[in-house]
Amino acid sequence: SDPRVVAPEAVPGETEGSLRPLSLSDFIGQKAACDNLRIFIQAAGSRGEALDHTLFFGPPGLGKTTLAQIVARELGVGFRATSGPIIAKAGDLAALLTNLEPRDVLFIDEIHRLNPAIEEVLYPAMEDFQLDLIIGEGPAARSVRIDLAPFTLIGATTRSGLLTTPLRERFGIPLRMNFYTPEELELIVRRGARVLGCEMTEDGAREIARRARGTPRVAGRLLRRVRDFAVVAGTLPVTSTVADDGLNRLGVDQMGLDAMDRRYLSCIAEHYNGGPVGVETLAAALSEQRDTIEEVIEPYLLQQGFLQRTPRGRVLAVAGYRHLGLTPVQRSEQ
Ligand code: ADP
Repeated sequence: SDPRVVAPEAVPGETEGSLRPLSLSDFIGQKAACDNLRIFIQAAGSRGEALDHTLFFGPPGLGKTTLAQIVARELGVGFRATSGPIIAKAGDLAALLTNLEPRDVLFIDEIHRLNPAIEEVLYPAMEDFQLDLIIGEGPAARSVRIDLAPFTLIGATTRSGLLTTPLRERFGIPLRMNFYTPEELELIVRRGARVLGCEMTEDGAREIARRARGTPRVAGRLLRRVRDFAVVAGTLPVTSTVADDGLNRLGVDQMGLDAMDRRYLSCIAEHYNGGPVGVETLAAALSEQRDTIEEVIEPYLLQQGFLQRTPRGRVLAVAGYRHLGLTPVQRSEQ
């Protein structure tokens, strides 16, 4: 593998990578972001400059890393990847930055989790392509300035609001990633089935897409598991019935919610009378990280209208009650 890539996590044997689209024209969905990127990439290329620093924000699994790789490929430059929490020392970041070739892309996943001291090293690097480093300690310490090659920082985060203002302001191109429509996901599932050599009918792909939580990563995972069931049971091609059977076994319900989603909704309904309830309280009740709740579970439930966020906390919406097969609580303030 490329020694220049600092992998945020080891990629297991069955790589996600094989389903990754490699060019903007291959990339399905996120039309607004892609249309803008296409123009900015072309403009930067025609000037022979590095692309402006770009920030992708949106829930996990929507294609931020994939799009960052595609941007580097379309620019015809090198790509290096790391992630906020694994950069432990300013020196680690300095090593990455000083190894960049002109116009290279440096991708920092979970950039909101950079340590503040390291974040400060990034400011002059982003703004003036310069590094100010303190070498040594105590009275012998001195500061050195290093010129960097012009580069593009691509940051990814689940919500742009998690970034500090000075960091956020240094991104010339902020792009929001949205959940995918079932039609877009259907194209992604069909493409994935082709890549995996899995026989599938159109309605089979539609069934998986419809229940994939608006998220390509989920679609890819469901596709692989449904294929496993079908291969073992000898029920290929994957029709809607075969897909439905596999998805039910995986605990993915008709609306595409998984066990965790239902646990979350039931908790609000049964223990907090439908809310409002604060996220910290829910995190404790469910024994989950607050981040997981806010970044993974809630965005889709909010988008689907099962949940509402109010200043006093989370409230189960009528659709949420219906989905659990419960009668909505009458609320005077609604
Ligand atoms: P993120 O960085 O936002 O968490 P990734 O870029 O890692 O998401 O994407 C997750 C998975 O979904 C990858 O396997 C990727 O190939 C797939 N994927 C993401 N976006 C698309 C897309 N638009 N078309 C096809 N596959 C996609």
